[in-house]
Amino acid sequence: MKEKVLIVEDNPQNMRLLEMTLKARDYALLKANDGEEALDTAVRERPDIIIMDMQLPKLSGLEVTQRLRQMAEFNHVPIIALTAYAMKGDKEKFIEAGCDAYLSKPIDTRELPKTIARMLPGREKEAPDVGGKR
Ligand code: MN
Repeated sequence: MKEKVLIVEDNPQNMRLLEMTLKARDYALLKANDGEEALDTAVRERPDIIIMDMQLPKLSGLEVTQRLRQMAEFNHVPIIALTAYAMKGDKEKFIEAGCDAYLSKPIDTRELPKTIARMLPGREKEAPDVGGKR
């Protein structure tokens, strides 16, 4: 089964770039354009990993991350934070909220797929799926 990657990004150009960057890989791509949609899509689709812009309308990426982390089924889903402005202390704030990794914009189209691959469990290990979710 293809791993589901949820991309949360409100800027259409960035969304296109993220899609193009990940299209060639064998992922099932899901998209959300704001924080509320991100939460809804995550709960409905159960992605294997989430790429989360932090500056989003309705709910910020930080809020979405915090809410997801309160749900047992999202305790261990990797979340990669994307942000345009990296202020001192931002990274710590995102990690504290439950993000597993942090990438600053502009999006590094080489680094992002590597980060995703690194964070998806079983991708290189080829562990047999015993059925059941993580
Ligand atoms: Mn944004």
